[in-house]
Amino acid sequence: MKRNYDYIIIGGGIIGLSVAYNLSKKGANNILLLEKDFVGEGSTGKCAGGIRLQFSTDINIRFSILSRKIFDNFKEEFGVDPEFKKVGYLFLATEESELSIFEKNIALQRKFGIDVELLTQKEIKKRWPYLKTDDIKGGTFCAQDGYAGPHEVVQGYMRAIRRLKKVDIMQKEEVIGIDFKNNLWKVKTKKEYFNSPLVINCGGPYARNIANMAKINIPISPIRRQIFVTEPFDMIKGDIPLTIDLARGWYFRREGKGILMAGPQDEKESFNTTTDFEGMTYAAENGVYRVPIFSSCRFATSWAGLYEISPDSHAIMGEVEGNKGFYIAAGFSGHGFQHAPAAGLLMAELILEGNAHTIDITPLSPSRFAKGRLIKESLTAFKE
Ligand SMILES: Cc1cc2nc3c(=O)[nH]c(=O)nc-3n(C[C@H](O)[C@H](O)[C@H](O)COP(=O)(O)OP(=O)(O)OC[C@H]3O[C@@H](n4cnc5c(N)ncnc54)[C@H](O)[C@@H]3O)c2cc1C
Repeated sequence: MKRNYDYIIIGGGIIGLSVAYNLSKKGANNILLLEKDFVGEGSTGKCAGGIRLQFSTDINIRFSILSRKIFDNFKEEFGVDPEFKKVGYLFLATEESELSIFEKNIALQRKFGIDVELLTQKEIKKRWPYLKTDDIKGGTFCAQDGYAGPHEVVQGYMRAIRRLKKVDIMQKEEVIGIDFKNNLWKVKTKKEYFNSPLVINCGGPYARNIANMAKINIPISPIRRQIFVTEPFDMIKGDIPLTIDLARGWYFRREGKGILMAGPQDEKESFNTTTDFEGMTYAAENGVYRVPIFSSCRFATSWAGLYEISPDSHAIMGEVEGNKGFYIAAGFSGHGFQHAPAAGLLMAELILEGNAHTIDITPLSPSRFAKGRLIKESLTAFKE
């Protein structure tokens, strides 16, 4: 049994896989990835696959633009079609205050060359006549946004990692302890232990628990979000954008022949991943309110996953101060699927080249909370 590795990645979600792939691609070797269940079955497998350029901070927009380049060439690079459907994202405002925030966001997005439309209530009514619009003040639409298949994207990364042959992937191998001795991190699992000078915590909603094993505090909270999907529904013809009713925190998009609708997001943290009747009622009531013809839909299936929320709803990336060789790439706060291609590349730059030069990630450093340098977002941080 091999015990000594140059790099140990904890967590085989989309972030851990992207870090593993990018380290391999840049020439690193002798990498171990430990996953407590099966790769891609954590938050990544529960996500809605949303990919958008419409963010409201510089750093998130930069992550989106960089990730977009990778998603656009995904099939060529990874050999798997990510099923990226560019149907657009439509944000709806029902309050004047939201509209003025949209205007600010659009100004920022256009500085980056993103083609976003600011729409009036009349334009929205004309383009998407199935929406109830009498309470809508306006909206924004970016036709380049859309959603991809989380399963397909995970398979793409797995295939590319296997091709490069630099990573040992151990599934059903839960990390239960982490110590630092003789300049090495000793990572214990239920069955074994492994040593490495460098550990990367990619534990998603469990990243805080994993850091705690090494006596490190990182503020990431697991928050349940439910999803409900209807039976086939054909009363709307043509493309449906991923549509977000901002004030209600509710969204929908197509899922196969049915409609995927957001259930509620919990207020309190937990690791609960069950759906419930209240969640279904929330999805149905919001659905019928915003799209009255949804009253003839019937739910066919549902699931729940965990967001990994940081105090400023931005990722936490970097080496933990005072803990040489302990890195974190987690806390993507509901945006980790779409930002994973960039995140893996930037972590590999930081680890192998000393700094993330494609995008400066120092604003995301784990020490920013203790230093009071939280990132401010103008739009209430929306999570798909
Ligand atoms: C309902 C829902 C919808 C979402 N929709 C979107 C969306 O539309 N677009 C978007 O960009 N994002 C979305 N997200 C967020 C997205 O799913 C996450 O940001 C992303 O999947 C995080 O990836 P990750 O690799 O950090 O976490 P995960 O996928 O959770 O991976 C972490 C892995 O670590 C493993 N692990 C944990 N503890 C241990 C341990 N002790 N030992 C070994 N392994 C361990 C877990 O089993 C897990 O596989 C959504 C999330 C939810 C819940």
